[in-house]
Amino acid sequence: MQLLKQKVLDEGIVLSNQVLKVDSFLNHQMDPVLMKEMGKEFTRLFDGQNITRVLTIESSGIAPGIMTALELGVPLIFARKQKSLTLRHDIFVEKVFSFTKQETNEITVAKKFIHSGDRVLIIDDFLANGEAAFGLARIVEQAGAEVIGIGIVIEKAFQPGGRLLKEAGYRVESLVRIASLDDGAVSFADPLE
Ligand code: 5GP
Repeated sequence: MQLLKQKVLDEGIVLSNQVLKVDSFLNHQMDPVLMKEMGKEFTRLFDGQNITRVLTIESSGIAPGIMTALELGVPLIFARKQKSLTLRHDIFVEKVFSFTKQETNEITVAKKFIHSGDRVLIIDDFLANGEAAFGLARIVEQAGAEVIGIGIVIEKAFQPGGRLLKEAGYRVESLVRIASLDDGAVSFADPLE
């Protein structure tokens, strides 16, 4: 997605060779026009898949998630992150190791919002090792629903998440793929269109 690549080049801050900061348009301040375009692009990529729910994780997945859900005309559900909790019978719970915080969180979704027969599109802001996406996929599967695909705003293709998710049989569509953050610079996996 050309608009997003340009935004990453103009405003992305390379914090290390592993971490990109995009707090001016995605992770703190949010660019609503860009979010709307992301929603349209995910909808185009997953066209014809009869998606019934979009699932993301708080907080940075919510904006691209809601725009996609709006385009698709379906509800958005965001998984909540909690440090630890006593198991309750009305929620799905999965453990997810956080790449940015380097700690394990439990993510939860109320059972009443995903059902068997649902066709779920998972959306997240970044893909690194795939922990968040796998956790969300496990929740969909606990519900007896189907993961139709995983839509990622920024995939760091030099980390293994994308490959692991594809090997596990999931369809992964990323709006931009970053090949490297070495030497303080962003290089894209696919050349600029
Ligand atoms: P994963 O679960 O795939 O290992 O990491 C993805 C999650 O970690 C995303 O939900 C995102 O919040 C966070 N994350 C991973 N890498 C980055 C990064 O380079 N920059 C930012 N801002 N967040 C990241």
